[in-house]
Amino acid sequence: MNQYISSVLENLKKKYFWEKEFLQAAEEVLESLEPVIEREPKFQANRILERLVEPERVVSFRVPWKDDRGTVQVNTGWRIEFNSAIGPYKGGLRFHPSVNQGILKFLGFEQIFKNSLTGLPMGGGKGGSDFDPKGKSDNEVMAFCQSFMTELQRHIGADTDVPAGDIGVGGREIGYMFGQYKRIKNVFEGVLTGKGLNWGGSLIRPEATGYGAVYFAHEMLKAKGTDFKGKKVMISGSGNVAQYAAQKVNELGGTVVSFSDSTGSIIDEDGISGEKWEFVMDLKNNKRGRIKEYADKFGVKYYEGKRPWGLCKADVALPCATQNEISEEEAQALVDNGCLFVAEGANMPSTPEAVSVFLSNKVAFGPGKAVNAGGVATSGLEMSQNSMRLQWASEEVDTKLHNIMVNIHKACAEAADEYGTPGNYVNGANIAAFKKVANAMLDQGIV
Ligand code: GLU
Repeated sequence: MNQYISSVLENLKKKYFWEKEFLQAAEEVLESLEPVIEREPKFQANRILERLVEPERVVSFRVPWKDDRGTVQVNTGWRIEFNSAIGPYKGGLRFHPSVNQGILKFLGFEQIFKNSLTGLPMGGGKGGSDFDPKGKSDNEVMAFCQSFMTELQRHIGADTDVPAGDIGVGGREIGYMFGQYKRIKNVFEGVLTGKGLNWGGSLIRPEATGYGAVYFAHEMLKAKGTDFKGKKVMISGSGNVAQYAAQKVNELGGTVVSFSDSTGSIIDEDGISGEKWEFVMDLKNNKRGRIKEYADKFGVKYYEGKRPWGLCKADVALPCATQNEISEEEAQALVDNGCLFVAEGANMPSTPEAVSVFLSNKVAFGPGKAVNAGGVATSGLEMSQNSMRLQWASEEVDTKLHNIMVNIHKACAEAADEYGTPGNYVNGANIAAFKKVANAMLDQGIV
């Protein structure tokens, strides 16, 4: 590896040795930048990599709230304002018991590159809390969200930092947080995205990450002279991204054969569409139930505690659950079962070992920062609509989203070609995204 890159990584590992997901994300990006760093000495001369891996600001705060029994609960909240070279910080909020500073730094770091790829003026940020919404009443979720926003509001704003949803944060949570922000600041502005349609939200925002992932995967298939018709598609997760990815795969003629959640997976080789897809939507979005209920209702196989990889044959895999959900063995099982395309709907779902298995077996592999950028891209479109005080029709938003995903695919493929690794979307995505941010940082001086 290039000496400059390895010394930056070594120092980072010493300094933040316990932040393993952040180190994993940083290593993947920096390794693939070798040809750019060598071709353009200005980046090393200006210590761009050292600056890029250090967040501009990390805010961490106490979130006290009262549960339904009147007991005081205390969680930790964070906002990582990672990079504002090309626009206000932008990125979601994750509420999940696994959340810690290292996970949010990984997500914030990925977001810098993802947002750059969208072509829209958005910097990178991420935030959240170790609060677990599972099993909490609406009242408890509202109490938590209000307390969380009471502190967060000091740090954000429509031109400063614009949070949105992620795992554990959907329309309900965004609503409670927006209400509290407005009450404290007395301003109605586009400070959050993923808002309700009656109060500044964009049409297609709920669908955007899943649709965008499938638009990107479709470009990957087209580059190999094929499409979704007749393809078996394995999807993990059953939340917002998985749900709308499945809907779009069905629309394009593919067969969705799996869904999963944190307790297990279901395999339905007849395809999850129509009334079965509606069942999952109701189960997950209204009843907040477990995916096992799908197996009970439709008489298909349920695999307790398992992820879907390798449980049946599939041509395409769309991991849409969470980070590090495909191990080396699971990647091999996908390859052995004939999988030729992997497109990441989640953030960093493949371990580095899994990525190596895919690349060495000539599987076309689309990394999350490119594949799932449709969500934040549509958040960017929501910001534009808010600034103009307009609301675009759904066809208009969907056409813009589609164009953005086609352009991201093109930018990744072209950068991969230009820097000597044709077909490698990992290198292509990192290089294309990096150049825009790094050049903006150079233009703005030592800040
Ligand atoms: N949480 C999503 C992501 O990982 C969306 C972020 C946003 O819309 O700001 O990109």
